[in-house]
Amino acid sequence: MKTQDFSPGRKPIAGCARATAAAVGGGGYANMSRFRLLPTAEQEEALLAHCRDARFVWNLAVEQQQHWQPGRKAPGYVEQAAQLTDARAEYGCLRAGSQTVQQQALRDFAQAMRNFFTGTHRRPTWRKAGVHEGFRQVAVKPHHVERLNHRLGQVWVPKVGWVRFRLSRPVPAGAKSYRVTRDRAGRWHVAFAHIPDRITGPGDCSVVGIDRGVAVSAALSTGELLRGPGLTPGESKRLTVLQQQLARCKRGSHRRAKTKRRIAKPKARERDRRKDWVEETSTDLARRFDVIRVEALDVRAMSRSARGTIENPGAAVAQKRGLNRAISRSGWGQLVARLQHKALGRVEQVPAAYTSQRCSACGHVAPGNRKSQAVFECQACSAGRCNADVNAARNIAGDGR
Ligand SMILES: [Zn+2]
Repeated sequence: MKTQDFSPGRKPIAGCARATAAAVGGGGYANMSRFRLLPTAEQEEALLAHCRDARFVWNLAVEQQQHWQPGRKAPGYVEQAAQLTDARAEYGCLRAGSQTVQQQALRDFAQAMRNFFTGTHRRPTWRKAGVHEGFRQVAVKPHHVERLNHRLGQVWVPKVGWVRFRLSRPVPAGAKSYRVTRDRAGRWHVAFAHIPDRITGPGDCSVVGIDRGVAVSAALSTGELLRGPGLTPGESKRLTVLQQQLARCKRGSHRRAKTKRRIAKPKARERDRRKDWVEETSTDLARRFDVIRVEALDVRAMSRSARGTIENPGAAVAQKRGLNRAISRSGWGQLVARLQHKALGRVEQVPAAYTSQRCSACGHVAPGNRKSQAVFECQACSAGRCNADVNAARNIAGDGR
C-alpha cells in the first residue's frame, strides 16, 4: 500500500465568506426567529392578498429580467419602482394593495439579483401560488409588536391590522423587519429579523473538529456523535403510504390536492425539528469551544453536481442522490452557516482531502485504513478500531499536526 505525506494548509479558505453570505439572504447579517402566526379567517384573506401582490410584482420583475440581453442594461430597482407606479395606476387590483408590500418585493428582487451576480445565490425564479407565499415588511417599530399574555403576542400588519401569534419564546429586541409566510401545509409564520447576539467561547483555546457524517449528522473530535432529528418510524411509514396514495391519484383531482396537503405536514414537521436542532447544536458548540474546524466542502455544489448536464450526465447518479438526501437531511449546511454566525471568526474551514483515510493517531494515510463506512482501523499503528467519522473529525481538529 502506498502511503502519502499529508500536510494541508491551515488557513481558512475563501469558502467561508461564501457560505456565510448564502445563509443570510436579503443582505445584512440578520438572524430570523420564527413564530406561528394565527390569523382569523378574515385576516387570512387579507394576508393572502399581500402574498399575491408580492408574488405578482416579483414575477413581473423576473419577466423583465428574462428579456435582458447582453449589451442591454437590465432595469434596476429605481426603474422598476417607477414602472410599479405605472402598473398601480393601470391595475385596480394592485392599487388596492399595500404599496410598501409591493415595493419591498421589488427591493428583495433587486437584492436577489445582486446575490446572483456576486455568485452566492442562484438566479431568482418565478414564484408559484401555494408554494412561495410570503411578503416582507420593513421599518418595523417597537410599538408594532405587542405581548398579550404569556402565550400570545400580536404584530401590526398594514391593511390587515393586529394579527396574533404564538409566543413560543421571547420576541427578539430590536427587530427591524419581519417576513410573513404561508407554507405548503397552510400554516402561517412570522419571522422577525434581528442582529444576533454573538456567543463568546470559553476562552481556553479549545479546538473541536466536526465531520459531517452520513450515518450520523455530525461527529466531533471529542468522540461525540450528533444525530439530527428526522421523522419517527411511524411518521415515515405514514409518509410512504401517503406518497403511494398520491401516485394513484388522478392529476388535478380534488383527492390529489388533499393528499398533497397531507404529505406537506410531516415534511414541514421534519424541517422544523431540524431547524431547532441546528439552533441548539450551534449554540452549544459555539459556547463550548474556542475554535471550531469543519471540512471545506461545498454542500450545494456537491448536491448539484450529481445530476450533471444533458451533454454530460453525472456519474453514479443514484448513489449520489442517496448521499445528497442524507446530507440535506442532516442539515449540515445549515449547521455550519449558523456556527459562522454565532461563533463569528472562530470557525475555520480546512481542506477535506484524506481526512477519512488518514489515521488521527500516527498520520498514516491509506485507503485500507477505512474498514467500512463506520469503522476505521489503522494498518500502521496500534491505535485500534474507532468510529470512522470520529477519526475524520480528529483529523479536522488537528489539521496540520
Ligand atoms: Zn495509525
